[in-house]
Amino acid sequence: MSNKRITKRSEDYTQWYLDVIEAAELAEHSIVRGCMVIKPHGYAIWENIQKVLDKKIKDTGHKNAYFPLFVPKSTMNKEAAHVKGFAKECAIVTHYRLKDAGEGKGVVVDPEAKLQDELIVRPTSEAIMYETFSTWIQSWRDLPLLINQWANIVRWEMRTRLFLRTTEFLWQEGHTVHATHKESEQEVFKMLNVYKDVVENYLAIPVYAGKKSKVESFPGAIRTYSIEALMQDGKALQSGTSHDLGDNFSKAFNIKFADKDGEIKHPWQTSWGLSTRIIGGLIMSHSDDKGLVLPPKITPIQVVIIPVFATENREQVVGKAMECKKELEKENIPVEVDDREYETVGSKFNEWEKKGIPVRIEIGTKEIEENKATLVSRINSEKTQVSTEHLVDEVKKLLENIQKELFNRAKERLESQTYEVEDYEEFKDVIKNKGGFVRAFWCENEECEATIKDETKATTRVLPFDAKEESGKCIYCGKEAKYKWLFALAY
Ligand SMILES: [Zn+2]
Repeated sequence: MSNKRITKRSEDYTQWYLDVIEAAELAEHSIVRGCMVIKPHGYAIWENIQKVLDKKIKDTGHKNAYFPLFVPKSTMNKEAAHVKGFAKECAIVTHYRLKDAGEGKGVVVDPEAKLQDELIVRPTSEAIMYETFSTWIQSWRDLPLLINQWANIVRWEMRTRLFLRTTEFLWQEGHTVHATHKESEQEVFKMLNVYKDVVENYLAIPVYAGKKSKVESFPGAIRTYSIEALMQDGKALQSGTSHDLGDNFSKAFNIKFADKDGEIKHPWQTSWGLSTRIIGGLIMSHSDDKGLVLPPKITPIQVVIIPVFATENREQVVGKAMECKKELEKENIPVEVDDREYETVGSKFNEWEKKGIPVRIEIGTKEIEENKATLVSRINSEKTQVSTEHLVDEVKKLLENIQKELFNRAKERLESQTYEVEDYEEFKDVIKNKGGFVRAFWCENEECEATIKDETKATTRVLPFDAKEESGKCIYCGKEAKYKWLFALAY
């Protein structure tokens, strides 16, 4: 357990983020530059996200499958915009064998073993999957095809940060094929809503949902939609994306089906993804200067029981703690008893606080005498004594309150840090001095978007679904604009 002090958010937000990850033992840098090791506590969080999301993906009719890690370069090349969009981040396998370099020199690449068609380590799986889909789909009876894959992805990153941007990361990617564009469009919105549901109701992170600008869209898609969250430092985090691929890929990969009317048609496709990046968002949404804070619905451990004992009453106190554990487990509350003798009570409090466990239960001699337990909330350190008879109910109530409170705090932050601006001067001022989301008229011209980005580093995040058509002037060029878009500095 690291005893390093956690940097305060107000001192250095970036360092605070890294300190929280280290103190909570979530992940660390590996010997491979840009790639991380996800440690057990961090991986358990990912497993819980997977569990919740996987169920919703299956409940909406999708099936899991697995495709190769490698994409032949010739296959990747079939959709021009797509391959160009990922070109700068691709890792390529050029050889398939090493050879002995001679005495004591280890091995070198065998130049004889050069691949004819080089293999790209998947930066996403459209190409490899759709090549296969073209053999699976012949008739309208084969549609819709609803596939999801849990996998790792490689995008060569020059500037990396644990969870938020790593060269290799974990995600799920959904890929679906439909007979009509109307149907594939519905799918795009349905899955964006699944993401919104998981991120808001389980991770307690409120988001804006909407359409991305063309420049910010997925390479090869006709439209991209995303959910955008706000971190405590006022920066946005794209937290899940859903793409309307139109018939771009089905044309490029020659996917065809005989429709009910007997005509041969290209089907309509979607893809959507959510990655381990969301764990970075989870950390930055809720954690505080004491360390990680985890929402009850996503934490691997909801309750930690700390028996406060001396050598002479250890057995009795730990026994009582174990009884409480059993009661809580009957109600499916994941709980751990920390009865280690070599750690002080104070350092145990500290450790579980840093790991973000929502509820701590303290049980000592006094509690046993009075048939009580002391509950402590991770989010406000409030202590309450409850009779052990009502322990389970009180713990459940406290967990529910913490879940709600975390969402409400984040929601309050999102709303109070969304600013309406009238002109570019005000826009620059808010981005520079306040952060958060800025709602502003934009003419949807790419040049304005690029110049705003150059001058302020702020990017268009989304045109929110609930944006009303208005009549206004683009904050940059002053030309006619219909909608107020959300802008922000983003991770
Ligand atoms: Zn403009």
